[in-house]
Amino acid sequence: MIGFDSHCHLDFLDDAPQCMADAETAGIARWLIPGTGPDQWRQAHQRFGQDDRVLLAAGHHPWFLPDSAPDIQSLESWLDQHSDSVAIGEIGLDFFRHHPRSAAAEHQFDWFMAQLAVSSECLQPVIIHSVKAHDRILQGLKRYPRVGGVVHGFVGPYAQAKAYLDRGFYLGAGSVVFQSAKTLDAFARIPAERILVETDAPDQHVPDQYRNAADPSDTGLPDNALLDWLSILKRIAAARQMDSAILTEQVCQNASSLFRL
Ligand SMILES: [Zn+2]
Repeated sequence: MIGFDSHCHLDFLDDAPQCMADAETAGIARWLIPGTGPDQWRQAHQRFGQDDRVLLAAGHHPWFLPDSAPDIQSLESWLDQHSDSVAIGEIGLDFFRHHPRSAAAEHQFDWFMAQLAVSSECLQPVIIHSVKAHDRILQGLKRYPRVGGVVHGFVGPYAQAKAYLDRGFYLGAGSVVFQSAKTLDAFARIPAERILVETDAPDQHVPDQYRNAADPSDTGLPDNALLDWLSILKRIAAARQMDSAILTEQVCQNASSLFRL
């Protein structure tokens, strides 16, 4: 079974082709690049649009919103013209107050809602970025019952995860499962059919002491953020007392069905 990293900013990596080749050797050979804004959609499409291993998405990331009121015209016309775009994202809310790129909460919310409306219309899944904002995200989703998708890099306790599960969402597990016991506990308890595994490279990292540590047969590949996928998967499999090959198969199936491959 081939690993599927369902949230990875390959286009922000220093040496994407080499990292991808090494990851492929280690058994990870499919990536989804989330969108951040129109210029990035274009560049990612140019660089990776022909690569069968790579999927693309388009959306306005909450860190990169224009100052203007929501305008989803560029998103709609991009989706019309690019049938290879499989999701709307990443979109969402980042209420971590000290983030240098965080716009005002209401501005973020307006853009988020406008993009949910697009998803509700075209029925493409959304990729949600939620930092200290789960209640507001869920409040927004209530208005669009047809919208489904994934909460990427989920951080929170089981009860919070459950609120998304009840809403039909998948939860993306990232390197935070090494730092947050409550988040790891949530991923130990939710149904395996709702878990995606993602590196969010290069934005997030598995702490050095855990990198590939679960694999004693590690072939000594160079430090490569894409290989964190294996460490994250194994961390969750161990917490669930589940065979990691079976979990790999399940999470890859989940990503394929969410993104309708
Ligand atoms: Zn991301």
